Amino acid sequence: MNSFQEKLINWYQLNKRDLPWRNTKNPYFIWLSEIILQQTRVDQGMNYYLHFVSNYPTIEQLANASEQEVLKSWQGLGYYSRARNLHFTAKVINEKYKGIFPQTYNEILELKGIGEYTAAAIASFAFDLPHAVLDGNVFRVLSRLFDIDTAIDSTQGKKEFANLANELLPKNNSSTYNQAIMEFGALFCTPSNPNCEACVLRNNCLSFQNKSVLNRPVKSKKTKTRNRYFNYLVFFSDEQIILSKRTRKDIWTNLYEFPLIEKKDEKENTEEVLLDEIHEQFQLKPISLFTSKKHVLSHQHIFARFFIFDEIPKKINALKIHLDEFYKYPVPKLISNFLEEFEK
Ligand code: SF4
Repeated sequence: MNSFQEKLINWYQLNKRDLPWRNTKNPYFIWLSEIILQQTRVDQGMNYYLHFVSNYPTIEQLANASEQEVLKSWQGLGYYSRARNLHFTAKVINEKYKGIFPQTYNEILELKGIGEYTAAAIASFAFDLPHAVLDGNVFRVLSRLFDIDTAIDSTQGKKEFANLANELLPKNNSSTYNQAIMEFGALFCTPSNPNCEACVLRNNCLSFQNKSVLNRPVKSKKTKTRNRYFNYLVFFSDEQIILSKRTRKDIWTNLYEFPLIEKKDEKENTEEVLLDEIHEQFQLKPISLFTSKKHVLSHQHIFARFFIFDEIPKKINALKIHLDEFYKYPVPKLISNFLEEFEK
């Protein structure tokens, strides 16, 4: 092992956070943690991890739960396709592999919801297989250490970084090294505030020498954000409320919400237009109106209004439930936030 890897591993042994998924070789728990932590901060994901491990301690128990239960357990974490894939894959492992997590990189990579990064993480953390992980932290650390200006989101960049990451991986210590480089990126070589003055890798770091640290990594694409205009109809009477299930392939598939009128743009989204439309469709007038704060998702901004009614339309193709039952239904954060505000 050369000195760069040794320094990194020594730094890790002294500075790593004590996280529950680091004290296990159980591939199921490692998989759970990796899926939960995608796009999620450790402090936010921790309780979800502990909840899943205690409520579904085996793959079989997760596979036998209903999708609604799993989505409910996931509520508030966002990116719900992760939960649906987790559940789907648990069923596949339960049936095809008799509940035993597959042990080769290629078999792991074939599972739904598991990409190259997650497959490498499970293969190395659980089975000590020599596969290098490449997540946002690793891209950043490598691009700085080697002062690479190839865009990390280009095909060329992905190839270049994958080759470099695999060359650097100490094959007999892949688990510790992979965790070390990710932790180093997460805690020390951070996006806008890297602690270069105190860095153990400073003498190895080309971008530090070339004064290009804050220009690394390079990205080519800017993410486009789409505005969406949601108008929810909250029909509520005699402790009964109307919910509808999102079945389309879109955000929040299979979660529940109130009947929705979505508008394409701000021009169409006036209160006047909506009141006319609601009246025409249901012959009802809302008793009040609540406008929520902008709801920010990674590529979408949602502007939501809630029209509140004290009646339930006679004809409506949706689910009528008693308010006491509401807790059983997985709902997007936008809806649970509204209810919290509304109950105040
Ligand atoms: S010197 Fe700075 S940029 Fe280079 S590895 Fe250390 S913290 Fe990161």
